[in-house]
Amino acid sequence: MARKKAPQTVAAANGIASDRAFGAVTPPIYLSSSFAFRGFEQAGDYEYTRTANPSRDLLADTLAKLEGGAGAVVTSSGTAAVDLVLSLLQPGALVVAPHDCYGGSYRLLAARHGKKQFEVAFVNQADEAALSRALKRAPALVLVETPSNPLMRIVDIRAIAARAKEAGAKLAVDNTFLSPALQKPIALGADFVIHSTTKYLNGHSDVVGGAVVAAAEADAEALAEWANITGVTGAPFDAYLTLRGLRTLFPRVKAQQRTAGHIALFLQQHPHVRAVHYPGLEAHPGHAVASAQQAGFGAMLSLELAADGAGVRRFVEALRLFTLAESLGGVESLIAHPATMTHASMGAEARRLAGINDATLRLSVGLEAEADLLNDLANGFTALARPSSRPREGAAA
Ligand code: PLP
Repeated sequence: MARKKAPQTVAAANGIASDRAFGAVTPPIYLSSSFAFRGFEQAGDYEYTRTANPSRDLLADTLAKLEGGAGAVVTSSGTAAVDLVLSLLQPGALVVAPHDCYGGSYRLLAARHGKKQFEVAFVNQADEAALSRALKRAPALVLVETPSNPLMRIVDIRAIAARAKEAGAKLAVDNTFLSPALQKPIALGADFVIHSTTKYLNGHSDVVGGAVVAAAEADAEALAEWANITGVTGAPFDAYLTLRGLRTLFPRVKAQQRTAGHIALFLQQHPHVRAVHYPGLEAHPGHAVASAQQAGFGAMLSLELAADGAGVRRFVEALRLFTLAESLGGVESLIAHPATMTHASMGAEARRLAGINDATLRLSVGLEAEADLLNDLANGFTALARPSSRPREGAAA
């Protein structure tokens, strides 16, 4: 009897040894922009790569299987994936979005709202009254980011899916921070799952890409149609690299989240840390929901340093393994300063409302040895505690 394959097997083996031309074990890459017709008015399986491409389709198929959806569309970036879902909206429709989402998603929603393409209500989805008020306005789409970027707030997907449905809205969940290795929003009631595949799915920080997985066949078809209309589909080479990265998703995420959990505990007891945001910590307000709806707590966390601007700078500049850079989810550890980087475009007031301040730092924990990462952070704290060690101007060398 055919047994349903475990997700690890799907990630490692979907499409392996399926090449009909030469029996290549690794699925070949099809870079061609167009495909020859078999004859006059006789198109083959593929015509033009903007519309469909075998390398991109294999990635989409793998993602749809991993997320438990009916189909997926692979886009040129995670932002394009968010926009693809938005392209299904009618003019004047209402989107209920998180007040603390990724800064680029916030900017996209605000910009389209500004052009009056649709309405957006940015809501603290943990605020029961605010969420109820927004849902009473008959939204067409509820967008959720859980855990949120960068403060790792958790939204109960099953609960919000039921409420969105009652309000007549579709639910889209941005699953970028966890990946299907740790969270399956469709099984919890979501209609769409959005990914920046730039992050954990590719995992090697060498591709910018995105994907939307739809729970229903009709939605998957509508997404594919709109992706072709607007031309946001991803490049075949990117799809090939992303699938190559995806092969090792499960072991990567498992190792990275183990180290992240230990780093969170280290930071939690540190006197120079005011707050640690990691859903794996029992003190985290979303711990119970995260424990129930996630298969692990992931490898992203954020913290608030007990330091002024100069102290934050000294801490960050002393780090050698946590590279100061945008993005996350790669095999290498990164640190970001959301106020001046990922969330700069939100504006100071929106950041204040979202709870992001100038001492907030976001860590993406990679695959380096845990002891080396802890040592790196310890060096950062030493530098933070020591006022500038640079010689003052005019001082003797
Ligand atoms: N969604 C989340 C949660 C993100 O963190 C990001 C990027 O950081 C995006 C979407 C946008 O993805 P991309 O940078 O691939 O456009």
